[in-house]
Amino acid sequence: MKSILAIHGGAGTITRSSMSEEMEAAYLQGLRDALEAGRIAYLRGDAAEDICAAAVVSLEENPLYNAGKGAVFTHAGDHEMDAAMMRGSDLAAGAVAGVRFVRNPVLLARAVMKYEEHVLLSGTGADAFARLQGLETVSNNWFDTPHRRLQYEQALAEDIIILDHHEKKFGTVGAVALDLKNNIAAATSTGGMTNKKFGRIGDSPLIGSGTYANNETCAVSCTGHGEYFIRYAVAYDLSCRIAYGKQTLNDAADELIYKVLQDAGGEGGLIAINRLGEVTLPFNSPGMYRGILHENGDVEVAIYRS
Ligand code: ASP
Repeated sequence: MKSILAIHGGAGTITRSSMSEEMEAAYLQGLRDALEAGRIAYLRGDAAEDICAAAVVSLEENPLYNAGKGAVFTHAGDHEMDAAMMRGSDLAAGAVAGVRFVRNPVLLARAVMKYEEHVLLSGTGADAFARLQGLETVSNNWFDTPHRRLQYEQALAEDIIILDHHEKKFGTVGAVALDLKNNIAAATSTGGMTNKKFGRIGDSPLIGSGTYANNETCAVSCTGHGEYFIRYAVAYDLSCRIAYGKQTLNDAADELIYKVLQDAGGEGGLIAINRLGEVTLPFNSPGMYRGILHENGDVEVAIYRS
C-alpha cells in the first residue's frame, strides 16, 4: 500500500508494563493528530517539507513529546532545542541547534532552508534569526512541564547525563513525507537529552546524521542515542546503501538499525520513505512511537515492538 507520511515520536525503553492505559491513549492520539495535520497539508497540495512541518509542529505543541513544549531539561535547568529539515528534490536543507526561545524549532529550520544562505544556525544567532523572520518566540521556561522536571531531578540526583528518562527513552519527533508532485522531504525536532551539558548537540540537526532527504534514494528522520547516529552518519549511510549498494529501502534500514548500530551499542530507530511511497520504521529499542498515513487515508499508529 502506498504511503505518503511517516512520523516518529522517539524510541527507547517504552514498554507496556511501564505505561498506563491513559498515557498510552494520549501518546497514540498525539500521533493520530500529527498524521491528521500532515494529511490536511497533503490534500492542500503542500510540498513534502511543509507536510513534514505540519506533522512536526503538531508533535512540538504536544507536551508529551520531547520537542518544543515538553522539551527535556539541560544540566543547567533550561531547554536547548535542535531541529532540521531537508528537501529531496534539490537537497535544500535548513537546521538549528541549541535554540532557546523559538516556539516551533522546526519552523525555524524551515526558514533557514528558505533563506538559502546557510544551512545550520546555532544558539543566540539562530534565535535572533527567528525574531527577524517573525516566528513566534516564548520565554525559555514556557517549554517546562512537570513531567520533564521530574526526569531532570532524577537525572541530576543520579548524575545520568545522556538519558532522557529513568528507563532510557528518547523522545525526539520527526516526519518523512511524499507530496502530490512526487517529491520527498524529512524533518526532525528535539529537546535532546535530559541533563545534557556543555552545549551538547545531538544528531537531529546534523544533515546526514539524524536527518536527510534525496529524491533519488529516500527521506529519513532518526531517533535514539544521537552520538551513535553522528558517528555512523546513519541518515546519509541509509541513502548511500540505496544509491551505491543497490539495497532496498527496507534492507538498508534493517541492516543499519539491527546490525551496524546494534553491534555498536547504539540504541534507536528511524523512519524513511521513498518516491514509490514505500516506508520503513525499524528500531532496536523496546518501543518507538510511530505512525503511517497511507495514500488512501488509512492510518496506523503503534508504540511497542509487537
Ligand atoms: N537523537 C536525539 C539526540 O541525541 C534524541 C532522541 O532521539 O530522542 O539528541
